[in-house]
Amino acid sequence: MASRFLNGIERNSHFSDQLIKLIPKTDIHCHLDGSLRVETLVDLAKEQNISLPTYDVDELRKTVLKEFYTDLTDYLVPFQYTSAVLRNAKALERVAFEFAEDCYSEGVRYFEVRFAPHLCAVPEVLSTEDVILAVNKGLKRATDTFNGIDDDVHKGIAPEYKYGIIVCGMRFFDENFSPFFKNFCEIFKHENKKKMFGIASLQLVKLAVHIRDTMNVPIVALDIAGCEASFPAINHAEAFQYAHENHMNKTIHAGEAYGPESIFQAITSCYAERIGHGLNMFDTSFFHPETPVNDKQKYVDGIIRFIANRRICVEVCLTSNYQTAPKLRNNISAHPLKRMLEEKLSVCLNTDNRMVSRTTMCDEIRLAVDIFKFNKDELWELISNGFESSFMPGSYANKLEYLKKMKLFYNRIVDMCPVE
Ligand SMILES: [Zn+2]
Repeated sequence: MASRFLNGIERNSHFSDQLIKLIPKTDIHCHLDGSLRVETLVDLAKEQNISLPTYDVDELRKTVLKEFYTDLTDYLVPFQYTSAVLRNAKALERVAFEFAEDCYSEGVRYFEVRFAPHLCAVPEVLSTEDVILAVNKGLKRATDTFNGIDDDVHKGIAPEYKYGIIVCGMRFFDENFSPFFKNFCEIFKHENKKKMFGIASLQLVKLAVHIRDTMNVPIVALDIAGCEASFPAINHAEAFQYAHENHMNKTIHAGEAYGPESIFQAITSCYAERIGHGLNMFDTSFFHPETPVNDKQKYVDGIIRFIANRRICVEVCLTSNYQTAPKLRNNISAHPLKRMLEEKLSVCLNTDNRMVSRTTMCDEIRLAVDIFKFNKDELWELISNGFESSFMPGSYANKLEYLKKMKLFYNRIVDMCPVE
């Protein structure tokens, strides 16, 4: 699969596909609504009488779920269909179960899945709380199943399968986004728009904290997703403040479709502990004309130093970036992952959207090791960054214990699997 981007790039012979599949992995930046199985999307649309451009799986792959997208707007088209089929508790549970099953089947031992519950909620029919609970039900069922059948887990050789949930507020929405937002926009029709975006995120995080604290659901963080360039994170500062005060972690999509200023806001005004994508973090061409920055390079250097010192992890999504960022078009080697590692940043690999990007965690690792010629120690660094900077529920001591087990398991697999 991943080889579609690798024209002219030599395969890294340190890693067989079997090795990549068996080694323990994380995926901590992945959207549930971008990661359905295509067959399930078609099934659910038929069941619920929801219109799709075609109900033929191959045709959908050609016309909607493409190998390459013209831009981010084109990339976001499939989400209108996936959101539409996910306004139903049974569908949410099924999709969550299958998502976890897919992750665990490809050797992902720990994942954090994210979604915007307000895109699925339907006033009077399906509450935001029920959306989150339905997703958790599917994830938990799959996790219990996999832990029950994995011999290596039973023998104590491999770490357990685990997960966390990240809830996403939207940087921007209007009444067409979902039935929930239609209702919300009506209620707040006299409110300043920027304030309205922030109020929605604040309501979401308050609910998330309540569910986490009273229903034993592993909601581990707040994120904001959606259009980055004109809708700054600072509109959501109150929501992130609330998360911060209630010991909920923060990760923010930043530096994906905008530049260093966006990352600066995420880490200074919203306490982000991880950055989603960070693709443009070194790019001085993205500054807003009104930003009072004289020396852009110095500003960027300052941000990079801050991120490095605080070990703020950058959640890199190679395929997704390649499909949507014009500067990577036809040249995925130009991705700043290498530069991030040279700057000694904490970086991990992720899928972003399994269905929409047509990728898996194995594909992402294949891409990274082939393009950047990593060896096994360098790959372990990327993988361990994912575990270390995860928002895994439980104590820090338990997390370290888990990581230790993961390292032993990684070495065991590497020793067992012959190179190509
Ligand atoms: Zn994302």
